[in-house]
Amino acid sequence: MSNIFNIDLHLHSFYSDGELSPNRLVERAHEAGITTLSLTDHDTTAGCRQAHDTANKLGIKFINGIELSTRWRTHDIHIVGLNIDIDHPDMVSGCARQAQCRQQRVLDISERLQACGLDNCLERVQALAGKGMITRAHFAQLCVDAGMAKDFKSAFTRYLGRGKPAYVASQWASVAEAVEWITAAGGVAVIAHPGRYKLTTTKLKRLLDEFKGHGGHAIEVVTSVHSAQEVIIMTNLAREFELHASVGSDFHRDGWVHAKLGRLAPLPAACKPVWQLWTT
Ligand code: AMP
Ligand code: MN
Ligand code: MN
Ligand code: MN
Repeated sequence: MSNIFNIDLHLHSFYSDGELSPNRLVERAHEAGITTLSLTDHDTTAGCRQAHDTANKLGIKFINGIELSTRWRTHDIHIVGLNIDIDHPDMVSGCARQAQCRQQRVLDISERLQACGLDNCLERVQALAGKGMITRAHFAQLCVDAGMAKDFKSAFTRYLGRGKPAYVASQWASVAEAVEWITAAGGVAVIAHPGRYKLTTTKLKRLLDEFKGHGGHAIEVVTSVHSAQEVIIMTNLAREFELHASVGSDFHRDGWVHAKLGRLAPLPAACKPVWQLWTT
């Protein structure tokens, strides 16, 4: 059996902080052997139609998706919505609210980075993001380009990460709201990359318990940032909380050490695959 999986349910295009157009992203996924994929841009579904059309032409399956930013206690938790109706009014109004939140945060972060010595921050970040959602990844790029940080990681540890000078605590949706919008739109709510939040086991269990209580369906068990050990931990948590399991690379662009397209490990046999929720 191949040790590379052909399903990838967490990908980004240039409608948020990915590099590729949805069209090119789907072509690349197809070339990498992926047969089912979702586009999960940050707080926008703008690329889904194009991705869907390209996937249809190539004969592979496309699932409408989104990655919603939420605030849980003092943490920014990402919730992926899969198999959603992108035109559902609750999803459309939810996205509009998140976009407003992002716009305000862009102004706040720009002001702070400017105070750290980055000139014309607002104009530069708008030019860099083009028509896509502006994310901290764009600000990180500016810091690297200006020589303020040697790479993305250091841009986050010096300026943009939690508690750093250019960090702004945003008024994102709550976990409950994100799950509500996704569920109303007929979709499946998935906690993205649970290993990335640096939560203690106790806190992670609290998050999963609340998420499940709000009607959340699944967690990402296999994702690029998870080690083999974390895959086992998340498999056990999925079983403990009776959640389904998802698989997604979180691919943004070539050259990122993590998150390579089409290079995922298979879902452990003990998991209930998330796609069972829309194929049965
Ligand atoms: P935002 O949704 O605007 O808060 O931006 C979050 C995005 O920034 C993530 O989706 C990643 O693409 C990127 N990001 C967050 N933390 C890091 C990090 N430590 N190193 C590199 N990229 C990061
Ligand atoms: Mn991102
Ligand atoms: Mn994320
Ligand atoms: Mn992502």
